[in-house]
Amino acid sequence: LFVTFEGGDGVGKSTQVRLLAAWLEERGETVVSTREPGGTDVGLEVRELVLHHRGDISPRAEALLYAADRAHHIATLVRPALERGEVVIQDRYIDSSVAYQGAGRVLDSAEIRSLSLWATENLVPDVTILLDLDERLARERLTSDAKVFDRLENEKSEFHERVRSGFLALASAEPERFQVLNAEASVEELAASIRARIEPLLS
Ligand code: C5P
Repeated sequence: LFVTFEGGDGVGKSTQVRLLAAWLEERGETVVSTREPGGTDVGLEVRELVLHHRGDISPRAEALLYAADRAHHIATLVRPALERGEVVIQDRYIDSSVAYQGAGRVLDSAEIRSLSLWATENLVPDVTILLDLDERLARERLTSDAKVFDRLENEKSEFHERVRSGFLALASAEPERFQVLNAEASVEELAASIRARIEPLLS
């Protein structure tokens, strides 16, 4: 089972990844929790590079770096785990590229998606949880996390609005794969909705 979490910065994805992994492990599942960018050693170097040069890197080069991170991550960590029958829970995947590099950087969304599908040999998640939050609320939450707050501040509001609309457009195009949740709900309410979506898929 391959579950991905998507959404803007500061919506609470990493907390929900942690809670879902813990719940699945209690039920006896073997879980791999991972993230993009930076889910492997190679990926960590790509993450440093791409985040360090954010703003001065050309949009196409940025898209290729995310795709390179993704290709290596899927080939060496995610696909082998899925083949062993494990559950993979991943913070960000192809939809992030379509939203950030496509809608955000105004590259062609279909091309960005094809690039990622090529990079991953067409690995599509079984379920994608989209945590949706107004950018202003996300910003308020992030004041406690200076590093992430700086990242949000790096881009104009319009960029984050395009990213958010990009995610929502993806979700409405594939309602069966996506579960869209309003991230203003409490941590526990969100976790319960996510568990309810995943439970029927467990063997
Ligand atoms: O989710 P996380 O904080 O690890 O993401 C790191 C940064 O990379 C975020 O600020 C996110 O906006 C950005 N990102 C991106 N394009 C992607 C994935 C992440 O711009 N495809």
